[in-house]
Amino acid sequence: MLDDCVFCRIIRGEIPAAKVYEDGENLVFRDIKPAAPVHFLAVPKRHVARLADCGEADAGLLSSLLLAAGRAARRENVGDFRLIVNDGAGAGQTVFHLHAHILAGPGLTEKLL
Ligand code: AMP
Ligand code: ZN
Repeated sequence: MLDDCVFCRIIRGEIPAAKVYEDGENLVFRDIKPAAPVHFLAVPKRHVARLADCGEADAGLLSSLLLAAGRAARRENVGDFRLIVNDGAGAGQTVFHLHAHILAGPGLTEKLL
């Protein structure tokens, strides 16, 4: 937990967020500035800055995060969805607490890759 990390503050309940799913290790909430009709963020409750910082010791955290993202999408009935991790400033990361964007809704049919 970092004092000045916006996602740690959401996890601690110091900043409000529209939560859509929670389990012991993860929180999923709506992005404040949605880039798609459905735009959630899945974050681990333990502060990890970015994927590139993760190692073998974080394997459980990472698998749990992916499972939570899939579970949240299924429970919210978002239909098909895309998962995006911007890892590092050069890739567009602005909040340095690992998170996966969950994007869904009409208009996502154009393939990026
Ligand atoms: P990234 O640019 O990949 O680091 O994504 C950070 C995301 O966090 C952006 O899409 C922001 O809109 C979102 N965001 C920042 N602050 C908040 C907040 N307080 N509540 C919800 N989403 C936020
Ligand atoms: Zn944090």
